[in-house]
Amino acid sequence: MKNILIVVAHSDDETLGMGATIARHTANGDTVNVMFMTDGVSSRSNSTNSACKERHLAAQKAMKILGVTNLHFFDFPDNSMDTVPLIQLVKAVESVIEHRNPDTIYTHYAYDLNIDHQLTHSAVMTACRPQRNSTVHTILSFEVLSSTEWSSPSTPTFNPQYFVNSSHFWEKKQQALQCYAQELRDFPHSRSLPCIEALGTLRGATNGFEKAEAFYIERILIS
Ligand SMILES: [Zn+2]
Repeated sequence: MKNILIVVAHSDDETLGMGATIARHTANGDTVNVMFMTDGVSSRSNSTNSACKERHLAAQKAMKILGVTNLHFFDFPDNSMDTVPLIQLVKAVESVIEHRNPDTIYTHYAYDLNIDHQLTHSAVMTACRPQRNSTVHTILSFEVLSSTEWSSPSTPTFNPQYFVNSSHFWEKKQQALQCYAQELRDFPHSRSLPCIEALGTLRGATNGFEKAEAFYIERILIS
């Protein structure tokens, strides 16, 4: 049985990036822990405490649908994680790793457009420096529509080598996405349901599956 930790900047990133894979892990009996770095709303001009609570509730509902019970909420500033010294972000990730002892970590791709995604990636890679007593042997990054594909063409394109057949768990992903309806946009925005479906179909059908989620391998250690 695997012990998974997913580290995301904002609640909804985990479902957009790997909702079906999360459902697949929990159906397999794997332990899944999710760490949310920001409250996801504090940068918005109309943000309030209740908006923050609503976003937490949405995340809890979505994670319940995907079978996840271990949630860690942090309140680093939304869309302003660059105002926090990286060392504090690293320490937060380290504290959850020490508590949960994961063997596999999923997080953001390094070159996403969103600054919080970039810093979350850096914090994870720094916290997971490969050292003798580290429990973490696998690190994978996922794509989040309206951030990964919006990165500058001068940075490395997300080029996944690891694909998870998501056909049987796609419905769970769709249900969990409904909890984040406020974060979705109308088509033809890339963070719209038709585009999410299209990406799942493309990642699937190019690999012989109906639906798939795609990952970039940051590290796999075989001991
Ligand atoms: Zn995000």
